[in-house]
Amino acid sequence: VTTLSEVALERAVVAAVEGGGTKFRAAAYPASILEATEPLESLGDFTIDTTTPAETLGQVVDVLTPFEPQALGIATFGPLNLDRSSSQYGSIAATPKPDWSGAPILDDLARGLGGIAAGIQTDVEAAAIAELRQGAGRGFESVAYVTVGTGIGVGVVVDGQVFRGRDHLELGHIPVSRTDGDEFAGRCPFHGDCLEGMVSGPALLDRFGPEHVSPDHHSWELVADYLAQLATVITWSFSPDRILFSGGVGHNDHLEPLLRDAMARRLGGYSVSHADNRELIGLAQLGNDAGLIGAAILAADVLSSC
Ligand SMILES: [Zn+2]
Repeated sequence: VTTLSEVALERAVVAAVEGGGTKFRAAAYPASILEATEPLESLGDFTIDTTTPAETLGQVVDVLTPFEPQALGIATFGPLNLDRSSSQYGSIAATPKPDWSGAPILDDLARGLGGIAAGIQTDVEAAAIAELRQGAGRGFESVAYVTVGTGIGVGVVVDGQVFRGRDHLELGHIPVSRTDGDEFAGRCPFHGDCLEGMVSGPALLDRFGPEHVSPDHHSWELVADYLAQLATVITWSFSPDRILFSGGVGHNDHLEPLLRDAMARRLGGYSVSHADNRELIGLAQLGNDAGLIGAAILAADVLSSC
């Protein structure tokens, strides 16, 4: 039985926006993306330079308006205010990025598109949902998405819902114990030798030079050991079915088996379901589209609950 609202939803168009530090992406999708189990063709996909909020968000509105979207989903870099009791809900929080501290990204885009219903998530939360619905997490209810590149970000979905407290998660900044003999000071501006300070892309470049990206470089064992500490914290905190790695450092075929070995050592046999589960660790499948797809799913979800 197909209801009237299902028919309306099938014909509807939703807008998806992924905000990044150097580029924004804006796309229109059929609202049927809500039920899709593999990536759908977008109706139009645009890339816009990240300059000032007024200029960038104005261009996003301009490219999306012709599609007459009925709802909007945003996936953006953080830190992001997601406290619904705050007047700053949906705004970028204090950030070193010039001009963007306090930018009301949710309000500006929703208003610019005619006051349509809108939702907002972090880029990694959206990517976790996208991987669960259409990527390497298909068939599961609980998935963690870890991106390791310029920074380290983690989004966790538990029982189909993004896990979040007052703020979004900041698991990239967990304290880590040093791999034997590692004397690197760390380069996180807030914590020095937190996880991101030790093995983000820029940290690895500082430590080992540009050759660290080579698959046979000696640093990969060290990278795997630090990231396995994160995977252990994720496992003991959320017990997901899959932990999916992405990003320039994280998404590497040669890293996956090293991560699985390091994870087994770090777990020390102490997990009911995951002590011997090598499938727990895997690579994400949706690449650079994960955040945008997650934003579109969020938009369709917002529309379906209108
Ligand atoms: Zn840090």
